[in-house]
Amino acid sequence: MFEKLTKSIYIDGEWRAVNEQQTDTVYNPATLEPITKVANGGKKEAEEAIKAAAKAFPPWSEMPGRKRSHILYKASELMTEDAERLGRILTSEQGKPLKEAIGEVKGAAAFLLWYAEEAARAYGEWLPSSAQSKRMLVIPKPVGVVGAITPWNFPSSMITRKLGPALAAGCTVVLKPSEETPLSAVEIIKVFEKAGMPKGVVNMVTGDAQQIGNAMLTNKEVRLITFTGSTAVGKYLMRESSEHVKKLSLELGGHAPSIVFKDADIDKAAKLVLASKFRNSGQTCICTNRLFVHESIADKFTETLKEKVGKMKVGSGMEDDTELGPLINKAASEKVHSHMEDAVEKGAKVVSGGGYWEGNLNGHFYNPTILSNIDDDMKIMNEETFGPIIPIQTFHDENEVIQKANDTDYGLAAYIFTENTNQAIRASEKLDYGIVGINDVFPATPEAPFGGIKQSGIGKEGGHHGMAEFLEEKYVSIGIG
Ligand code: ADP
Repeated sequence: MFEKLTKSIYIDGEWRAVNEQQTDTVYNPATLEPITKVANGGKKEAEEAIKAAAKAFPPWSEMPGRKRSHILYKASELMTEDAERLGRILTSEQGKPLKEAIGEVKGAAAFLLWYAEEAARAYGEWLPSSAQSKRMLVIPKPVGVVGAITPWNFPSSMITRKLGPALAAGCTVVLKPSEETPLSAVEIIKVFEKAGMPKGVVNMVTGDAQQIGNAMLTNKEVRLITFTGSTAVGKYLMRESSEHVKKLSLELGGHAPSIVFKDADIDKAAKLVLASKFRNSGQTCICTNRLFVHESIADKFTETLKEKVGKMKVGSGMEDDTELGPLINKAASEKVHSHMEDAVEKGAKVVSGGGYWEGNLNGHFYNPTILSNIDDDMKIMNEETFGPIIPIQTFHDENEVIQKANDTDYGLAAYIFTENTNQAIRASEKLDYGIVGINDVFPATPEAPFGGIKQSGIGKEGGHHGMAEFLEEKYVSIGIG
């Protein structure tokens, strides 16, 4: 599917490699076989990309929104038509089951469609003045050059969630995708190219994260950094961007609680908890990390979960019936295993699964696992696991469980399962999270504002809120008379 060397740097409308030697290998995480090599760019390429984006900013931002929207429509269409092939590329570099990958690509295209529509709708305001001799306008202006840094867990949708609104707003972009999954990013840039994006509006540099990030931080032209990734890197970007007072949009870690109340529909809730936990093998920032089940239904719920988890198929994402693909790399699987060992050492009981999957593939697979007898001091209850383990704790009353669910520095997503409307509303209001799902574990959609509070991040992706991140309000005061 790929040449030995894939040109993965795109600056001012030109594809480049750095040179034959300066490369990174992309591996298939299911087999650990190399797929291709991509360019390892650094400071020099990042600076050039920023320069190209700065040059392209005036014409792009001055273009009527409706014209920008035509290009985004076209890009969305091209991506949707090619979803099957793009899904295969995604699975080959990231590992998730092909069905999930194709779904992600279609979802990524849906973000472009949404922002194609929003591009023409950046409304300003005419303010009623308190003085008869004045008129006041508020005009939305694109912030300028955007640096976008994306992770490997959703290699396609994380890009369009950022680039869609940025481009719609009239910003130009330098993208740095994850070193683990540059190939989906290359394909998205090709889609933009085919859709007729003017040169310099979208640029991409793969390679040294520190150097590329540093160029974005130190160059005054970059006015906003949009980042999805670890809380540690997010904090670093926040600290370093203070020098030029850059705007930031950060989507960081999560530690989502799922609360199953006694009025839940057990079978439905179990299915949803599984979907939330095991999608992408648990490598999702909004996936359930802690499961609280009301004590009166805990045995039945655990049995139901166990039965379903026992049937889950682990394997290569390319096989039709696979439900759990590999983890992204060795460090990821070791972290998952350390959480499991820590829990077991401290008294947890393995209800199902446990340990590395020993199948016929070389990748870093982990068995879907359920643990019970969970204490608050276990690592799994305090850190993001990012893998396929469900720790089950029981609870007695609503206030107690809400307090536990909120007892974390994270605040991205939380889930409630109940058929009791009063309880659902009460609990959703008390949970300190940017997103609450009530009998729903798939809250990410182009029309809604996705984002965390507390140390899970700043800003929103999705909806008109997502485009507002890339706009600044200019106030024009007019004296007349
Ligand atoms: P994860 O642990 O999920 O890989 P990271 O925060 O390390 O999360 O990575 C998310 C993205 O941030 C990736 O594209 C990665 O290359 C990038 N990144 C990592 N370190 C830095 C840095 N110092 N400056 C800029 N980007 C970085």
